[in-house]
Amino acid sequence: MTSWYTEQQDGKPYCMPQCDVCGLRYDAYGLYDDKEQAAADAVNDGWQAWPDLYHTDWDCRCPQHWSVRCETCKRYVAQADRTGFNGWLFDRDNNDMRVGVCDQCLARMDTLPALELGAWPIFHPSHQRIDKWQALKILEEAAEVVDATKEAIRSVTVMDGRTLVNRAHLVDEIADLLQTVTNLCAAFGITAADLGIARTECTIKSLKRGMFDKEPRTRMHRKDEQ
Ligand SMILES: [Zn+2]
Ligand SMILES: [Zn+2]
Repeated sequence: MTSWYTEQQDGKPYCMPQCDVCGLRYDAYGLYDDKEQAAADAVNDGWQAWPDLYHTDWDCRCPQHWSVRCETCKRYVAQADRTGFNGWLFDRDNNDMRVGVCDQCLARMDTLPALELGAWPIFHPSHQRIDKWQALKILEEAAEVVDATKEAIRSVTVMDGRTLVNRAHLVDEIADLLQTVTNLCAAFGITAADLGIARTECTIKSLKRGMFDKEPRTRMHRKDEQ
């Protein structure tokens, strides 16, 4: 089945999106001389239409024959009614709705072990600026976290098979770091809601990379661990 129904009128080709599974035509507005416009209208009405590399042609699917892949678990649904994807999350920038995050992966996100960082007080606005110093303060605190980490590593002792670490200083330095991150957010007007959205996107990225699954550690150490 081809994705377009074409008709010649006065020697010019006019066309209509056509489901490449069942042949249903998208006839809400009749024939088009512009495929891009036709595809956009069909998508607005619950169709899928995805362009080739050069945006010269589109594959079309009616609302009963969506094909969608989960970008995190790679589950592929070759054809199903669009209502079957109600619980899925689709990327705001990817409006052809062919790649999303499936309901199972989204449900899993709520069950992942998580660290509750709590509410951090914001410094008085007189201490905040939209400048690089606000950010460099984070580097400075992060460097202190690294030093405190090395110190904690040196403190490691194994007693009765248990690994003991003196991490008191490290905890203090992490708190300082979180305070500077909070202040940077405040300087740039970044809210908890902004961070919530970013956190979801970050979690999806990590799910895709398998970071919540047992796998060999990657991209972390520059040389073999001792
Ligand atoms: Zn169809
Ligand atoms: Zn999935």
